[in-house]
Formats: sequence, C-alpha cells, structure tokens
Amino acid sequence: VKVAIAGAGAMGSRFGMMLAQGGNDVTLIDGWLAHIKAIQENGLQANYNGKNVSVHLPVKLQSEVDSTEKFDLVIIFTKSMQLAQMLSDIQGVLGQKTKVLCLLNGLGHVETLEKYVPRENIFLGNTMWTAGLEGPGKVKLFGFGSVELQNVGERKEEDAKQIADFLSQSGLNASYSDNILYSIYRKACVNGTMNCLTTLLDCNMGQFGATSTAHQIVVKIVNEFAAVAKVEKINLDVSELVKHVESCYDPSVADHYPSMYQDLIQNKRKTEIDYINGAISRKGQKYGVPTPYCDLLTAMIHAKEELLEAK
Ligand code: NAD
Repeated sequence: VKVAIAGAGAMGSRFGMMLAQGGNDVTLIDGWLAHIKAIQENGLQANYNGKNVSVHLPVKLQSEVDSTEKFDLVIIFTKSMQLAQMLSDIQGVLGQKTKVLCLLNGLGHVETLEKYVPRENIFLGNTMWTAGLEGPGKVKLFGFGSVELQNVGERKEEDAKQIADFLSQSGLNASYSDNILYSIYRKACVNGTMNCLTTLLDCNMGQFGATSTAHQIVVKIVNEFAAVAKVEKINLDVSELVKHVESCYDPSVADHYPSMYQDLIQNKRKTEIDYINGAISRKGQKYGVPTPYCDLLTAMIHAKEELLEAK
C-alpha cells in the first residue's frame, strides 16, 4: 500500500511515523517549506514517549507534487481551513481508486471533500491520538489513542474496515464505526466548549471548570450542538455529552491548554473556529435553529485573531 500523508504537521507526522515504523511506503506532503527542508536534511524527528526517534521519509511540497505518482491511500491532516487548498494541490496524485481518509477535527468537511474526490473514495474518521509540533521537522508524540472511521460512499463498508485494519497493523488502534458523525459531533462538543472558552478566558481547562458559571455555559453550548445535529438526524445525548465535556476538569488533564489556545494565544495562528462553533452557527442559520452562544463565541474568536494579528 502506497500511503501519502497530506498535511504533515503534528498529527500527520504521528501517523506518518507510525505507519513508516510499521513497514509501509509513506510519503509526506505539506505546504510549510521550513518544515519540509528540516525533514529532508535531518529526517522527521520525534520525542516519542520520551525517546528520541528519527525517520527518513520522502517529503514533497504540496504545490509541486509529481502527478505521475499515484497513491492507494491519502490521509488528510491539514487544519480545517487548509483542506480545500490541499485537495486542490494534490489532485494529480489521486488516481481513480485512491482512497482519501479525512481525520480533521470539526464539522462540514465532506462538502469540501466531495468537490475534489468521488464520494465512493471518501472515508471520514475521528481520532483520539494527540501530537504537538515543536518546530520545523520536530514533533512531540506522547500517550495512546485510537481512530474510528467510516465510508461516506454507499456500500464501501468493507473498504472502511480494510483501512481500519491497515492502520491497526501499525499500532494506530483503528476501528470501523457505523455512526462516525455521532463521534465527530461528540468530539466537536469538547472542542466547541473547551477550545474557545479557555482561549477567550485565558485559562486552562481545570481553571475554567472551577468557575461558578462553567456548567451553565457548557450546557447552553452543548444544547446548541444537539439542536443542530438533530436536524441532521443525529441524536446527541446531551447529559452524557455534558459529562463528557466536564471530564476535561479531571485532575489528570485539568492543567491542559487546548490546541486552539496553543495556536492562537501562544503561536498567533488562526483557529479552526469556523469548523467548530462557526459550523454550528452556519448550520443553525440554514435550519432555522437559533445558536446565540456559538454565534457570539465564533465572532469573539475572530476578534481575538484580529487583535493578535494571527496568521
Ligand atoms: P498542525 O498545525 O500541526 O499542522 C497542520 C498544517 O499546518 C501542517 O501542514 C503544518 O505543516 C502546518 N503548519 C504548522 N505550523 C506551521 C507554521 N508555523 N507555519 C506554517 N505552517 C505550519 O495541525 P495538527 O495539530 O496536526 O492538526 C491537524 C488536524 O488534526 C486538525 O484538524 C486538528 O484539529 C486535528 N487534531 C489534532 C490533534 C492534536 O493533538 N494536535 C488531535 C486530534 C485531532
């Protein structure tokens, strides 16, 4: 199986490294020149559970991919707002049978994928693995995780199961899901509360959870996600989801600053808000479902991006 990782930042590097260590033919495709150069010169370097590991992998600039080379599987790991550009740039390496697995956080990616990839080749997933980028060519990979995935096209369940088995052979702990949209919404509820609230309030998850208004804010937001999901025939269990979100205050993870905080406050990078709370606002408007909390949070994160001149 010839695999390409399209978007080889923190998560793409994790998947690329684990698949390569599993003996697979892996190519990284990315748009960040300094990162590509570092990987070409020194290999992809990782602090892998405390051990220094480096792997040498072919790495290509996304605007210069070689369209004579086709891949069997392309795993997408851009940020949400980079997805369309990546799909447009890699058209040349997508053959008629190339399967495309999208593992980004957030909502609404299928609509974008369908503009570039035939529906029968699209697979959608959700992952509990984590990763951090320390600088060009360097990642930090700690802990354990899992992947759930499902086919978007009709009658492609067997293909989805094969992709899950393939990922699991390299230790990625993947399984087939018969309701991936539920899992994606469930994760989006965590991102749609913890990410934007810690970023706007400048605190970690535990500090937010200790405030007297945390519970009421989380309940309001989760209810907006559930009201929008319901129109799409996905029935979120609000009380289970609120408990799931509030497990972020558990002492084992309470001192964590979510990725949106790291991106915007620490690194002045633009956020994925338009694909989390912003997606709920847009869908809510379309379906006639009021989403005042998501509307305000999306607008405030955009204001914060402007104040910090995020790129
Ligand atoms: P990332 O920011 O590390 O990488 C995404 C892209 O941005 C890559 O192409 C990378 O090269 C580029 N990039 C990163 N820093 C840059 C810089 N300073 N200048 C120019 N380009 C830069 O993103 P990620 O954390 O790998 O996330 C990818 C997707 O996976 C997102 O949808 C995210 O929400 C999701 N996700 C992330 C994690 C995690 O722990 N990081 C966990 C689960 C899901």
